[in-house]
Amino acid sequence: MKISIFGGGYVGLVQAAVLSEVGHDVTCVDINPRKVDALNRGLIPIYEPGLDVLVKQGLSKGLLTFTIDAEEAIQHATAIFIAVGTPPDEDGSADLQHVLKVAETIAQYMNEYKVIINKSTVPVGTGARVKSVVREQLKSRNVICEFDVVSNPEFLKEGAAVADCQRPDRIVIGVESDKAANIMREIYEHFNRNHEKIIQMDIRSAELTKYAANCMLATKISFMNEMANLAEKLGADIESVRQGIGSDPRIGYHFIYPGCGYGGSCFPKDINALLNTSRQVSYDAKILKAVDRVNQKQKQVLFNKLHQVFNGDLVGRTIALWGLSFKPETDDTREATSLVLINALLEAGVAVQAYDPQARAEVGNIYGDQEELTLTDKKEDALIAADALVIVTEWKEFRSPNFELIQQSLNYPIIVDGRNLYSPQKMKQLGFIYYGVGRGESI
Ligand code: NAD
Repeated sequence: MKISIFGGGYVGLVQAAVLSEVGHDVTCVDINPRKVDALNRGLIPIYEPGLDVLVKQGLSKGLLTFTIDAEEAIQHATAIFIAVGTPPDEDGSADLQHVLKVAETIAQYMNEYKVIINKSTVPVGTGARVKSVVREQLKSRNVICEFDVVSNPEFLKEGAAVADCQRPDRIVIGVESDKAANIMREIYEHFNRNHEKIIQMDIRSAELTKYAANCMLATKISFMNEMANLAEKLGADIESVRQGIGSDPRIGYHFIYPGCGYGGSCFPKDINALLNTSRQVSYDAKILKAVDRVNQKQKQVLFNKLHQVFNGDLVGRTIALWGLSFKPETDDTREATSLVLINALLEAGVAVQAYDPQARAEVGNIYGDQEELTLTDKKEDALIAADALVIVTEWKEFRSPNFELIQQSLNYPIIVDGRNLYSPQKMKQLGFIYYGVGRGESI
């Protein structure tokens, strides 16, 4: 099928590559000419495992093209995806300007039936807004043509986006017509072979499904962080508690890892967007408010621990940071805990030596030539003459480091571990002063 996708970011680009892999003829449109130019040369602007191979394969087979020409993309396809950003507005609501702009652009050039598929995460009621924008624009052009709007939220995880799109757990489609439903089934036919994955519903329910999913996951994390904070006060080990509760199939092991707060482009923004929607319908969403509040506080635990370890004597110190991306296997640092920690440390007069396998450039762009922040090429270099090591992101390469070298490089054998990578007992045996999150210590 001929498909166009507006937005060549984490969602649009991965979706375009995966749909071309199964034989669809896909055009991906982005407003950023440099990005489009790079993609047409097979250069991938983001780090996402497996994506480069798929993009190169799609380009060489002629099934994947990138363009800035919206008109060309709209003529190309009957099925047009909107996968542009919906960043938080000042009041926390989802900023829909890019989504609505794309809807207007589609209506500006369409002359025959199109199904407009919204993949961006958008508040309930956006499908109806897209519909009315398209209708108005068609009316102003005196063009009569049929169209459908579909909600098809995306559930991929950054860092595993390609695999998630190739083998989705579920494909949610919010539709209003059989025609649109049939087109959606055709698009996803290849992914729906082994067993039925398509969950069909109305548009508003599909829109809410995406928020409910992200808010549920964020709730699990904040709940566990609250338990971790309690465990610290009570002298219990949250890692034992995690295993103790995860073994109950009603709870399960997924997403109950305590840590130093969730970040990323989705959870914080989606919680706030749903809180905003709740306010609009005069509903006091108490759980969502608490989830967000707990998380904001949790992002400060690493700084607070350092503050306590050094008895408030932080000025002039140097701290080594391992991990900058909001989670492993991505270069994305949006809303990352590392940024909260770096800001707090710099403000407290601390120099930071930080290492990340993928997010160095991102963080470099954010802080420019900030003198007190050094971004190193190797994790070992971040340690040299630092007063303590803080682990912020659980990249695999941090799991079994050379502890002897860490001890030799640091001024003091102090590790503050925001992801509970190591065993407190083992760290003690090795001579470290070690603090995890919720591991029975009160610091
Ligand atoms: P992104 O910021 O990585 O990419 C958005 C892209 O859209 C950018 O390349 C931008 O240049 C382009 N764009 C903006 N306006 C455009 C226009 N008028 N025409 C064409 N291109 C345009 O965003 P993302 O992370 O891919 O997220 C997209 C949407 O998907 C958001 O609503 C997000 O909440 C949702 N989502 C994201 C994830 C994720 O893990 N990143 C997962 C599920 C859902």
